[in-house]
Amino acid sequence: HSRTFHSLRPIAPLPPPSEPLSLTDYALSLLSTTTAVSNNTTALIDAATDHHLTYPTFLRQIKSLSSFLQSHTTLSKGHVALILIPSSIHVPVLYFSLLSLGVTIAPANPLSSPSELSHLVHLINPVIAFSTSSTATKIPKLPLGTVITDSPSFLSVINSTTDTHTELRPVVTSQSDTAAILFSSGTTGRVKGVLLTHGNFIALIGGFCFMKHAYDDGIEDEPHPVSLFPLPLFHVFGFFMMVRALAMGETLVLMQRFDFEGMLKAVEKYRITYMPVSPPLITAFTKSELVKKYDISSIRLLGSGGAPLGKEVAESFKAKFPNVEIVQGYGLTESGGGAARMIGFDEAKRHGSVGRLAENMEAKIVDPVTGEALSPGQKGELWLRGPTIMKGYVGDDKATVETLDSEGWLKTGDLCYFDSDGYLFIVDRLKELIKYKAYQVPPAELEHILHTNPEIADAAVVPYPDEDAGQIPMAFVVRKPGSNITAAQVMDYVAKQVTPYKKIRRVSFINSIPKSPAGKILRRELVDIALTSGSSK
Ligand code: AMP
Repeated sequence: HSRTFHSLRPIAPLPPPSEPLSLTDYALSLLSTTTAVSNNTTALIDAATDHHLTYPTFLRQIKSLSSFLQSHTTLSKGHVALILIPSSIHVPVLYFSLLSLGVTIAPANPLSSPSELSHLVHLINPVIAFSTSSTATKIPKLPLGTVITDSPSFLSVINSTTDTHTELRPVVTSQSDTAAILFSSGTTGRVKGVLLTHGNFIALIGGFCFMKHAYDDGIEDEPHPVSLFPLPLFHVFGFFMMVRALAMGETLVLMQRFDFEGMLKAVEKYRITYMPVSPPLITAFTKSELVKKYDISSIRLLGSGGAPLGKEVAESFKAKFPNVEIVQGYGLTESGGGAARMIGFDEAKRHGSVGRLAENMEAKIVDPVTGEALSPGQKGELWLRGPTIMKGYVGDDKATVETLDSEGWLKTGDLCYFDSDGYLFIVDRLKELIKYKAYQVPPAELEHILHTNPEIADAAVVPYPDEDAGQIPMAFVVRKPGSNITAAQVMDYVAKQVTPYKKIRRVSFINSIPKSPAGKILRRELVDIALTSGSSK
């Protein structure tokens, strides 16, 4: 019989799904309940230039950009915009403007290689791109071209104070309209475009804001939170945390280029109280001597997500920084981000768990072999259902049907269990995905590249555990007869064609790749071989 886990949180009140509402309008309506606009609070700070943007200016820039795009381009509702910009204070302005026009935003990693980009463009069919001058040359030609966001003309558009532009024509957006396409390889294969709706993000942000008021637990009651985002804004975690912070009238510090010491300097300078982070950064905090050089005593809370945070890592962090609380969260691009998280001091003590199911979320733990729904304490694949779950993958019905069942359950590909108090534990990853510093590395994509090398007969890529990065991509390579290709040559061959975080960082040569009778690579076996035998780095 079916065993469904329900969220233990109070139900967060959300706008009726049938009410037309864009994410921008929703976020700005939440903002209007705060004092941020009337107090001229700082919304955004660029850590590199110390440029501050206040809430009134932020709102004006959104309006200027939206009316410019509406009056000077043919960009309109339903169009897709590719966005290729490093974290800057212009990114939120751009996202909010495009979303208010009903344009679907598709932000990607600005470091993507030209071949990766042409794959993305092929997937999502954008009419326009927004990019900085340094990345623009990589973007294929699009119908409405590429807008350069660090150009004087773009800056003069967003900074124009006079209302020379025609009034904004209101755009009616349904909550079921696609707000964003974010990229994820899901459980198999190459990267896919995840369709997330305005309603998905409204439910997520609405839930977060409601919970903050529902749990007045002392961790989050900082009079004015100032957060620093080392996370990229093109990943679901950074994206929704950014919208959440702006909807709540907080101050957000963005770093265009991440470096650890630069981050510590920014923490000291801006008295940062909160950071959403990935686990490797927590490891860096506990290990680095640099931390002692800076006053980081303003930090009250770190929210960790995107990859597993080891119990030991959390505990050694707490031993070193007893005044900083770490809360862990768990989610997928496909679940629209946070599907489970810790709220409050008591939950934060449960190191090793990822917290409890988010408000308005349901879950099942399904036996991967029998399909049976399991009870607390039993391990199986986590399935999720709720208002933040994606609509599907763009243009890939097969992958959509394999991932989302007819009742709306999302199969996460993660092996998990709930304890009897409703805490969720992530035990292992059933899917192929490798996470290097919480970045997604799809093995199939790297295997595809390896197969194009004339000296390689066969190849498989698997995760190899790494203390600093969580996992690194490791290749097992079968040389062609007569080939003497070296590990360094294999790594170099791949490195030239991919975003840096996807590089192969370890290689082992093997006589044949173990496969199932159906030809599926036996990845577990390879991981075991990697762990037990020596291999060349
Ligand atoms: P992404 O779509 O890039 O957010 O990747 C989602 C995947 O990252 C999940 O399916 C998990 O495998 C992994 N993940 C995310 N958060 C956590 C966490 N807190 N603990 C363990 N794994 C996580």
